[in-house]
Amino acid sequence: MALWITDECINCDVCEPECPNQAISMGVEIYEIDAGRCTECVGHFDEPQCVQVCPVSCIPVNPAHVETKVQLLAKYHSLQGGAASPAAEPCAHPTA
Ligand code: SF4
Ligand code: SF4
Repeated sequence: MALWITDECINCDVCEPECPNQAISMGVEIYEIDAGRCTECVGHFDEPQCVQVCPVSCIPVNPAHVETKVQLLAKYHSLQGGAASPAAEPCAHPTA
């Protein structure tokens, strides 16, 4: 699941620079998470970095964006600019 920021956010600015996917930005009143870019930090860290640093614990998972670890990893790969990484092709023509 992507995460989201509730209206308890105090705009302390500390989460934005911690996001490895540039998923956090200032919204109209409080910070927001772009669900299309949030991987729950899968691919980068073991724990969601924004949750680790938020002083008021206002970043729960977003039930509107249920995703499995596999889907989150696929999102991570797509954000890295590679489609589903074409794993190293086995050499079909070994040198004779
Ligand atoms: S969980 Fe990770 S990827 Fe998602 S918004 Fe927080 S820091 Fe960014
Ligand atoms: S760390 Fe928490 S309180 Fe601070 S800006 Fe981010 S969501 Fe808001």
